[in-house]
Amino acid sequence: MTRTQFDRGDRRTRASELAIDLAGARVTVAVTRSARRLRSVAIAVEAGRVKVAAPMAMTDTQLLALLAKRATWIAGRLGGGVAEAPSQALRDGDTLPFRGENLALRVAVHSGSRAFVRREGAALAVELPGSLPGERQPAAVRQAVAAWYRARAAEVLPGIVHRWAAVSGLEPARVLIRDQKRRWGSCGPDGTIRLNWRLVLFDPHLADYVVVHELAHLRHRHHQAGFWEEVARLMPDHAARRRQLTAAGRELVV
Ligand SMILES: [Zn+2]
Repeated sequence: MTRTQFDRGDRRTRASELAIDLAGARVTVAVTRSARRLRSVAIAVEAGRVKVAAPMAMTDTQLLALLAKRATWIAGRLGGGVAEAPSQALRDGDTLPFRGENLALRVAVHSGSRAFVRREGAALAVELPGSLPGERQPAAVRQAVAAWYRARAAEVLPGIVHRWAAVSGLEPARVLIRDQKRRWGSCGPDGTIRLNWRLVLFDPHLADYVVVHELAHLRHRHHQAGFWEEVARLMPDHAARRRQLTAAGRELVV
């Protein structure tokens, strides 16, 4: 987190800005401190801008701590990051994105007792036990499709990390594939890189961006200038990819 501050010269209110990090994107927060506001802090997201009203005596450090606690809520209001899993049912004939391809979902029932899923050319075929009650079928389809994506992620994503590790000279301690609700990736203090399996839904160049972002954290454990210079060195068009990732995250099918 970084900050810039300026003073309007008004003793009753003071405007400044703070920068916070939300899922790897820098977000500017407009802060208005007021002598009339005694205790409470109001955080609002209006028209895509984060605004904070705070008591005059509150420090930036205190505000940053409060904003960090509300990060998930703020990210949700801004519409960025990983969206909540969609609730609409997946149906036969629906389109499932996979690494820049479109697969057609085929749903059928079979006589076995377990659901299974397999890729058949440009289709993803899910077969459900015929004994499964109809009202449980949508959840079973979603579960089968998610399991297929997750298995593909385990095959594909570690290879992307190793390729970029070779290019960058930044070597993670290990790579884990995770079901993360609000993040595409993270880099732990022990050098573990965790990646969201949903990255395989998108064009491959977006997973590349997340991998480069997390590898750069092995050298810079912050989002200040040095970090972004490292990302830009490896991936000059990282900003465009980050915007595309945010947009893609709003269209998740699973
Ligand atoms: Zn980051």
